Formats: sequence, structure tokens, C-alpha cells
Amino acid sequence: MAAGLDELLHEAEIAHGHLCAGQILGVRMAMLALQRLGIDDPRRRHNEDGSLNSDRKRLVTFVEIDRCATDAIGVVTGCRVGKRALKLRDWGKMAATFVDLNAELEPGVYKGVRVVALESSKVRAKELYPELERNPQQMKAYREMPDAELFGEQWVRVPLPASEFPGYKGQRVVCARCGEGVNFDRFAERDGEQLCLACADAEKVYFKPL
Ligand SMILES: [Zn+2]
Ligand SMILES: [Zn+2]
Repeated sequence: MAAGLDELLHEAEIAHGHLCAGQILGVRMAMLALQRLGIDDPRRRHNEDGSLNSDRKRLVTFVEIDRCATDAIGVVTGCRVGKRALKLRDWGKMAATFVDLNAELEPGVYKGVRVVALESSKVRAKELYPELERNPQQMKAYREMPDAELFGEQWVRVPLPASEFPGYKGQRVVCARCGEGVNFDRFAERDGEQLCLACADAEKVYFKPL
């Protein structure tokens, strides 16, 4: 790994606005996954000899939580929502799956490693530093504890259709009702018309006009 824990934590702190236990878990979770996938540094553009770093666009990451660790995982992997390489499946779990686009197991299915922070890590942090308050206690312990005490890990198969790939360019339609433009796969057919999801299903609209 090109950058060490301290360096990555520093970058995560800048990106996230503060350093917290969630940042430490997120950084270590992503470092562990990169190690398992044999990816040295997914963020570096060029290798030392000047050639392009082929690991740079090798990862798609699914995160299962919308909290601090999410930002840290983005920092370490270089995966970003705006590049379609960081995908949120909001299950409220401190877990993420790191998918290797170089490891296609069968057409459209890729190998990945899912890493989950163990609930028992909190208890272990308490045992290690009972004299500290919860936040400093977890921050100190999560830096030091071995991976096996912090995380569960599992190799998984992840279906990833072409339309989920970072660089995919698909059809863009204009909603027949509101006239707003919509990207591929996010429109619905109603009575022969192509509608945006808001016009197709009023129940799902997250806002109401003032
Ligand atoms: Zn935080
Ligand atoms: Zn519409």
C-alpha cells in the first residue's frame, strides 16, 4: 500500500472535517480490502516508471452505511459517487463490498470482498482502554487492534451489469410530462410514454412544491 494508516487518516480527516472512530474503521476497512484484492494504490495516476497505473479504475465499492466511514472509504479507494464507483446501499451496516473489475468470474459477475466491522470490536475497545471515554477509547483501540478483531470478511460474487460501470453512457430521455431530462434506467413507461420516476409515481417523490 502506497500510503500508510497515518497518512490516509490525515487525508480522511481533511475530507470529512474531523477525525473519529468511524474514519479509522473506514480507512482500515478499505486498506484491508485493497490488500486482499492485491491492489497497491488505486488512486495514483502513474507508476514510478511513468506508465499508467492500471489499478486506478479497477474498483467499484458498495457501502452499506451513510455515516463517517463512507467518506473514509472514498478517500482510500478513490471511488466517488460522482464517478459512479461508490454506490450506497443504505442498510445501516458498517460494511462495504470492494469489487474487482479485473476479476470477472462469468459474464457480468465480478469477484469482491465484503468487509464488516464486528460489533464485538466495541466491547474489545472497552476492555483495552476502560479508563477512557467512549470516543477516545474507540479511536485509540481501532488504530491498534488486529484486523481479525475488527472485521469479518467474505469473498463474494457481485453482478454488475454494464450500465452500473463508472464510464457507461446510456440513453437519455426527456420526460413526457415535466420535460426534465433523465439518464438511462431511471425512467418508466406509462401508457406508451416515457416518464421520469417522479412523474411515474407521485408516492415516491421526496419533496412537495411550496
Ligand atoms: Zn465522523
Ligand atoms: Zn417528469
